[in-house]
Amino acid sequence: MHSFDKDPDHIAVEKVLTYARERLLMDPIPLDGPQSEDYLLSAAGQTITAAGLGSTRAMELFEHTLAPACLSTDHPRYLSFIPCAPTREAAAFDVVVGASSIYGGSWMEGAGAVYAENQALRWIADLAGLPEEAGGVFVPGGTVGNLSALVTARHTARAKAVAEGTGARPFRIAATDNAHSSVVSMAAVMDAEVCGVAVDDMLRMTGPELRRTLEEHGPETFFAVVATSGTTNFGVVDDLDGVAEVCEEFGIWLHVDGAYGGAGLAAPSVRHLYEGIERADSFIVDPHKWLFAPFDCCALIYRDPELARIAHTQEAGYLDVITRSAEWNPTDYSIGLTRRARGLPLWYSLAVHGTDAYVEAIEDTLAVTRHAAAEIDKRPYLEAVREPDLSVIVFRRLGWSAEDYQAWTDRLLDREFAFVVPTTFRGETLTRFAVVNPHTTKEDITAILDTMA
Ligand SMILES: *Cc1c(COP(=O)(O)O)cnc(C)c1O
Repeated sequence: MHSFDKDPDHIAVEKVLTYARERLLMDPIPLDGPQSEDYLLSAAGQTITAAGLGSTRAMELFEHTLAPACLSTDHPRYLSFIPCAPTREAAAFDVVVGASSIYGGSWMEGAGAVYAENQALRWIADLAGLPEEAGGVFVPGGTVGNLSALVTARHTARAKAVAEGTGARPFRIAATDNAHSSVVSMAAVMDAEVCGVAVDDMLRMTGPELRRTLEEHGPETFFAVVATSGTTNFGVVDDLDGVAEVCEEFGIWLHVDGAYGGAGLAAPSVRHLYEGIERADSFIVDPHKWLFAPFDCCALIYRDPELARIAHTQEAGYLDVITRSAEWNPTDYSIGLTRRARGLPLWYSLAVHGTDAYVEAIEDTLAVTRHAAAEIDKRPYLEAVREPDLSVIVFRRLGWSAEDYQAWTDRLLDREFAFVVPTTFRGETLTRFAVVNPHTTKEDITAILDTMA
């Protein structure tokens, strides 16, 4: 008997599936919360042993000690950072992806999965109005998506400079201060320099300010402009049309980071904000943020995927059988080789519900955010920093210090009532709601605001 085959009745598998079923159908979901390492050491102790704990003890530890020490990001009153609120169908299908040992990197090994993922990507590309040839890959997150797109942009710009014999070696990226932290971080990975573009009074990047930045440093030194379609803190969508105009004039790659806000493309009430996105060279959106998919899932789409394939394909004798084929190999379009078919949970949920249900769910979260704005307006002790464009709203409690905000956050979490953390903007401590969970209700918002009186 093999050492892994000591459980002929597969009790361990049954326990896992039973737990998964219960968690997927749980209502209400407990918020739970972090514990100290000392607590976990005393409650769980040493879990990895030579003989093994057995399935009963291991599952018990997870269910009663470890899982409750993790916040439920899908709780309707978890409104911090960007929550993750997958549909039940998407989350359930993640179990299937794990169970199926699908290799999602190549057509040869995962054709069925890649076909389905590509249809989900196509839905997103169509929302953005990208051309028929557009395509890409699901990567783990916006950080990897941004990095992969920027690597493609630089590779393309440098190849062009060589072909044209200009001797230019572009190393700069233009972005505003409101771009996501991952842009600065990934620029450091690439040893690229980020040049700041000033924002207008709506906190947006605009064409004229972008032009000023490019001309100040020399447009030939830039290989990409990163615009944001929904900044993480405020949900600001840059003036994509104005920015695209300048990018086209100077021949610079336009990458649009819609990791959080890209989902708003599906919502008729805000679609006009995204005008110009169809001119992007690359675009990302994280379905694990506002498209109801589980972690970890970012859709990375290129206008001309061939440029990404040239920049990213790994060459090796043992890969020739794949790389020399004309088929679509997702791994060729991003950083990384081995690939989980992480787009399948989104695909399954989209296939089950249809895209109209997505449009409706996104509009619902926007309506809840507008309710939050109206409630904040009504209360003399609260003040919105900016009217929400999308589904995040930043606001201040008049008279509160940074310590007051933190104490309030701690009280809400201690009661397992809500998870809402402070944020800062231009040196001031504030707080913020991010509403991406269609189960977050107007009543939830009102109840949380009531605790700030
Ligand atoms: C969240 C976010 C990212 C990073 O995405 P991860 O999936 O966390 O890596 C990048 N850009 C924006 C605008 C984001 O909101």
